[in-house]
Amino acid sequence: MYYPGPIERLIENLTKLPGIGRKTATRLTFFLLNSKGFYISELSESLLDVKEKIKLCSVCFNITDVDPCVICTDPRRDRSIICVVEESSHMMVVESANPGHYKYHILHGVINPIEGIGPDDVRIKELHERIIREEIKEVIIATNPNIEGNTTAHYISEILKSLDVRITRIASGIPVGGDIVYIDPLTIKSSIDNRKNL
Ligand SMILES: [Zn+2]
Repeated sequence: MYYPGPIERLIENLTKLPGIGRKTATRLTFFLLNSKGFYISELSESLLDVKEKIKLCSVCFNITDVDPCVICTDPRRDRSIICVVEESSHMMVVESANPGHYKYHILHGVINPIEGIGPDDVRIKELHERIIREEIKEVIIATNPNIEGNTTAHYISEILKSLDVRITRIASGIPVGGDIVYIDPLTIKSSIDNRKNL
């Protein structure tokens, strides 16, 4: 069934959001249609605000409304370590587990030859420049432990080989609180390969 033009337009636009089908989009549209007070103008303003004010930090490429971002200018962080992540959302996860520890570098993707994404399509060149400029002593590569993440980690370690910098990779293995019986063989192998002394 088709609704009046403006309603149909909103449904169409909401359907473009990830995970939103026509049914949910219709439900949301009618929720908005029936909402009271300033909610709709507040919502549209906040959407425009995000579009206008959010940019990438020129140092670490994190999303920010000030440049450099608050993490890059935080004097309490270790100035000699950079944690490399795929996306800003990944950075938030690492940061929430280790608040206030590291500086970051957001690649905005990983190398994926099948999809035609090469080293120049992610921020690896900028990482290399930063390590020299900021005299970084350690780079923690926290890309996902899948084929693309591992390829990217390997590429970064090759690129940085000639520099005087320690390169580390996050460990992958059995999750905290996990049960060895339910873990896949690749993860078991990885956790044995990455075993450490007690
Ligand atoms: Zn930054």
